[in-house]
Parts: sequence; C-alpha cells; structure tokens
Amino acid sequence: MLVVMKAQATPEQIQAVCEAIEQMGFRAHPLPGAQRTAIGITGNSGEVERGNLEELSGVAEVIRVSKAYKLASRDAKEEDTVIRFPGTDAAIGGRNLAIVAGPCAIESREQAFAIAETVAAAGAQFFRGGAYKPRTSPYAFQGLGLDALKIMAEIRERYGLRIITEAIDNETLELVAEWADVVQIGARNMQNFSLLKHAGHLRKPILLKRGMSATLDEFLMAAEYIMSEGNYEVILCERGVRTFADHTRNTLDLSIVPAVQRLSHLPILVDPSHGTGKRNKVLPMARAAIAVGADGVLVEVHHQPEKALSDGPQSIYPAQFATMMDEIEKIAPIVHRTLSRGIHIESIPGGHDARAK
Ligand code: PEP
Ligand code: MN
Repeated sequence: MLVVMKAQATPEQIQAVCEAIEQMGFRAHPLPGAQRTAIGITGNSGEVERGNLEELSGVAEVIRVSKAYKLASRDAKEEDTVIRFPGTDAAIGGRNLAIVAGPCAIESREQAFAIAETVAAAGAQFFRGGAYKPRTSPYAFQGLGLDALKIMAEIRERYGLRIITEAIDNETLELVAEWADVVQIGARNMQNFSLLKHAGHLRKPILLKRGMSATLDEFLMAAEYIMSEGNYEVILCERGVRTFADHTRNTLDLSIVPAVQRLSHLPILVDPSHGTGKRNKVLPMARAAIAVGADGVLVEVHHQPEKALSDGPQSIYPAQFATMMDEIEKIAPIVHRTLSRGIHIESIPGGHDARAK
C-alpha cells in the first residue's frame, strides 16, 4: 500500500500519517518526491485497512501497489533517485554521469596510490578497490581487510575521490561502512538476505550488484530488502550474467538498463569489467553502457595488470581509462548527460578542489 500525500501536505501531516501507520503495527517509509511525498507501507501480510488513512489530513489517496517491490518501484516515487555525497559535487543518478574506477583489490599502498593518481587525473569522482574479496578459491588472495580500508581513506583525503568498497559478510559490514562512502554488495551476495537486511540499517549508500543468474525481479527484490529496512540509497549495478557464451567471462546484459529504468527510480551503473572479463572489450561496452542510458560505469583499472592479484585480464591500463573518459564525454550530450571531470570538494575547513588535472 502507498499513501499519496497532497502536493501541499505539511511535514506535520506527513509525520501524523507515518505515526498512524506505525500504530497499526506496520512500517512507514516516507519517500519525498518533487511533486509530492508518498508513504510506503510495509510489514503487512495482507491488505491494509485503508479507511482511516484516507481520512487523515493531507492525504490525497491510498493506493495498492501491485508489484512485489514497492519502495523500489516508480509507483512509490516517479522521479529518478539521485544519491549525493555531502560536501562534494559528486552524485550517482541524475544528469551527470558517475564514473567509478580502481583496482579489483587493494594490494598495497603503493599500488593503490599509483592507480588512484591516474584515475583522479583522468577525472573519475569515485575510487573502487576491494578490501575483502569474495574469491572462488579459498587459496586466492582474500584482500588486505582493514589495512586496505585505511589506504582508501588516505586516497579520499589526498584526491577527494569518494570510496566504494565491498562488504562480504555481516561481521565486517559495519567496519566497511565506517570507512567507505558507498558499500558494495557483490553479485555472489545479491540474495544474501541477512546481509541485505543489515545493509538496510546503515545510513550509507549501497551499490548492489546483480547476481550472476538473477532475473530483473530478483534484482529489484534484493534492492527492496535493503529499502524495506529504511535505507533508500541503493545503486544498482549490472555486471554480466552467466550464459552459454564463452567468448566473454559473463554476458553483459545492457538491456536491463532501460528495463530497470522503466520500473524503478533507482540509479543503475554498468560494470563492463566483470561483464566481459576481457580488457579489449571494456571500452566498447563502456561506450555502449552510456549510450543505452546507464547512470555511469564501474571499471577496473590497474597500472600493472599482469601483476594484479585478482582480475588482471579485465583491468584496463590508466591510459585506456583516460581514453574511455574522453569517449564518454563525447557520447554524454547525445544521451542528454554531462560528464564532470574531477571532484569538487566544497568549502569545508581544509577542503580543496581535488580536480587533479
Ligand atoms: C568486484 O567488483 O570486484 C566484484 C567481485 O564484483 P562482482 O560481485 O560483480 O563479481
Ligand atoms: Mn574484480
């Protein structure tokens, strides 16, 4: 159920409706939009008695949402969600494209800084790097853990880049959230419902990668798990699915971008690195991702990919990343987008313009 408030409803009226919903034993999720606020109701197993709610002041109507995902759907919120990063001009969703770049894993301070310097210089606003790695083999490099989180915090300090890193379990989720600007939940954990619920309690944006065999509904329901716990800042990420095709590591399903955008207000990024697994296919698919309407791309970059401890074959060189940025900058206006290069840190004490060009 969804309570749609009148455009002129006051914050007090919205609050009163939320309280009425909670008194009925349900959970209220106010979702402010440009025109009006809608309040999602969750926690009900059957139909909610709508009578009383319709009578409350400021209420325009009470409607049934037929889809299984409610808070993630465009019924609840018509306009696109834009996730902002306080104190900076960076955003995910909205007109400006978000570019996330960095190594698969943080391997050392030197490696991370060498890559961060180049991606900042080319104009990325977000730096990615794994501190905790979900690896197929228990004998493969598992990540540097807390040391990697500290290195990324230093990178944020030095270059202004906002940090995206993965949490692989409930045990490390809060620690990761303390250090990161965005917490990634990886493909292998897309249906780890316990982790999704815990992520719903955080007040940090969550980058949710599509499971490698997840349908569109399953993907949006995973986002709904996070939102139903009160965290509405979810960024979706298409990273390829398993198919019979063997010329790539995964099949990058770009058609999910317009499909998601039709149904959901959440931003969606595309990861052509895991989506193809091959360096020579990353740039073409990054261009295609922007052309198809994605809100940005996430790519793996390594200055010495042949020495990388994970995902070297799909990591592009810094010079290729700079080329990708130039190409995206040219494609952006055709799809009514912009690409700001570099991150501007607003005048917080000691702040600086971190555009490293
Ligand atoms: C990653 O981003 O390095 C990663 C492990 O991604 P995915 O969960 O999409 O495999
Ligand atoms: Mn990787």
